[in-house]
Amino acid sequence: MFHRKDTRPVRVGDLTIGGSNEVIMQSMCTTKTADVKATVAEILRLEEAGCQIVRVTVNNKEAAEAIKEIKKQIHIPLVSDIHFDHRLALAAIENGIDKVRINPGNIGRREKVEAVVKACKERGIPIRIGVNAGSLENHLLEKYGYPTPEAMVESALFHINILEELDFHDIIVSLKASDVPMAIAAYSQAAKAFNYPLHLGITEAGTLFTGAVKSAAGIGTLLNMGLGNTLRISLSADPVEEIKVARELLKTFGLITNAATLVSCPTCGRLDIDLFSIANEVEDYIAKIKVPIKVSVLGCAVNGPGEAREADIGIAGARGEGMLFRYGEMIRKVPEAELLTELKREIDVIVKAYEET
Ligand code: SF4
Repeated sequence: MFHRKDTRPVRVGDLTIGGSNEVIMQSMCTTKTADVKATVAEILRLEEAGCQIVRVTVNNKEAAEAIKEIKKQIHIPLVSDIHFDHRLALAAIENGIDKVRINPGNIGRREKVEAVVKACKERGIPIRIGVNAGSLENHLLEKYGYPTPEAMVESALFHINILEELDFHDIIVSLKASDVPMAIAAYSQAAKAFNYPLHLGITEAGTLFTGAVKSAAGIGTLLNMGLGNTLRISLSADPVEEIKVARELLKTFGLITNAATLVSCPTCGRLDIDLFSIANEVEDYIAKIKVPIKVSVLGCAVNGPGEAREADIGIAGARGEGMLFRYGEMIRKVPEAELLTELKREIDVIVKAYEET
């Protein structure tokens, strides 16, 4: 099985997916792509949340034309999502797209595929083959009867072969299914079949809550197996939430080096402070921090001090007050009303120290 580090590095704009590069977080716009103002506004919010690559649908001529203007106003690579119509792919490429998601086997006649591949080659643009359990080719459904991991991998190989025959290798592959065990099996088998980078995703995963759980189960399993070079959490929610979930997932597996982590206790009858609101406020506060610090928020003095000592900075609650810990040392006691302000101040000090080293 090809570990993520053994995959072929593929350039996407100023980033590289695959090889020894970090796992990259992606999302997709919910706006009409032709509405440049709304699309750019959404992309800028995604950038601020930490999104590294963003995809837009290119389903008509107006959307393909909008790419030129969108590109001028954003700072991360832009991917066009195209189904069937090679003229839209050519227009997107002409207008400066950084990556094209299209399945070459669905484009039609050979010369149409060749035209897209030629345009991508000339500009160094990669192609993502997006296999989806819900839209497998008829010849595979006839062979397998219904979507299976084997059918999905065969679909990926069918599209890969078309590109390889044209000596095109800047390929990224996704094998998405809403059935989590099927997606895990498909990605695992794919990692044995080829060494192109894998874009992970559980498609149609659901709303923020259910989608985050399903995606964490599926993508987390694959990340833990050493698979996946880029990922998208698909949620029926604001796409910024997709990035928040993606960041948390990557942090869980130590696959992100520039994010702060919060440790907070579940609380119990020993709780002496308003921990839920403090933990939520701290989580919001550290969301945009770009250094790998660990902040702990513990409810009481029983387990609190021990846990707080493991973190760079932390608090452990006591009756009406809290103990503030920095690098394992209790630095002072603070009244509960000032706890959050003091903790934020100490977080700022630690972040500044990190940034200066
Ligand atoms: Fe309960 Fe204290 Fe543990 Fe929090 S740290 S769960 S309040 S014992």
